[in-house]
Amino acid sequence: MRLRFSVWVAVLGFLLLVMLAAVLRLLPINPWDVFWLFVTVACAWAIVRIFYSEKKDNIQYDIIYRHVLVKCARIMVGHKMVELVPGVHLVDGSIGCNTYLIVDDGVTLVDTGLKGNVKQIYGCLRKLGYGPKDIKRIIITHAHIDHINCLSSLKAETGALIMASDQDSEVIEGMRPIRGIGGFFGAFFRLLRLYYRYKPVRVDVRLKDGDKIDVLGGLEAVLLSGHSAGNLGLYSRERKLIFSSDTIRVLNGKIAAPHPKFTENGEKAIEAIERMAGLDFNVMLPGHGKPVIGNASDKVKELCHELKR
Ligand SMILES: [Zn+2]
Repeated sequence: MRLRFSVWVAVLGFLLLVMLAAVLRLLPINPWDVFWLFVTVACAWAIVRIFYSEKKDNIQYDIIYRHVLVKCARIMVGHKMVELVPGVHLVDGSIGCNTYLIVDDGVTLVDTGLKGNVKQIYGCLRKLGYGPKDIKRIIITHAHIDHINCLSSLKAETGALIMASDQDSEVIEGMRPIRGIGGFFGAFFRLLRLYYRYKPVRVDVRLKDGDKIDVLGGLEAVLLSGHSAGNLGLYSRERKLIFSSDTIRVLNGKIAAPHPKFTENGEKAIEAIERMAGLDFNVMLPGHGKPVIGNASDKVKELCHELKR
């Protein structure tokens, strides 16, 4: 479906109305969140018109359209979560990246998302009958800004133990910048960082390949370097599930290798997918996109064959 000019105007007009309602305190949302959403949509519209309108008529406008409307609805509806498998919840509508809550020996949070996500996380916690102080651990799968932006405020309010890979801990602690995102996207992300200001945080537990965390029958750290140097998978052999971080993208139900523009080392990223294909799991919980429930490792094996062709 081609997204018409009138639909863009309707979406932008709708966002303006929501922003106005937020400024007048008629809606319990932050007007700045709506403002940045408005700017993003306006930029997307400009980019589509400038670069794609004549050259690529087959661009999937409907995906952008659906994404924007779903985000707007979620901001207005508020906190919602989904129990994917017993004890593992997805903070539905998480901002930035998928954030997961594991309820087992207290609460363990996997990744934190972008500014604004703290509210979503706490809302879901409340629904589960817990408060911020019940978060015992925060595991960071890798140090990209969309996964760590809320970390400092979460650490301050929860006192949770912070765990991350040895390599990416250097970025989380502010010792070095993330590598591998250059060119236009690098500049774009540097610009984003002005808004999504990041405050370095000390990592309490530096995980190495094979280390075990005492939840879900033993959650094993699996080093899946490539997307970032210390990109980590978290694998439960007993529960046959893996938190796969950004090792694999999930796009409209299909899995794919990570986007090369956001990947530190493309060759290693493919090796990481091969390593994942050697594990046995039914459930794959990615950093972005819909979780894959059922025969997940078979799908990863198929992807591996495709990538080798
Ligand atoms: Zn990433």
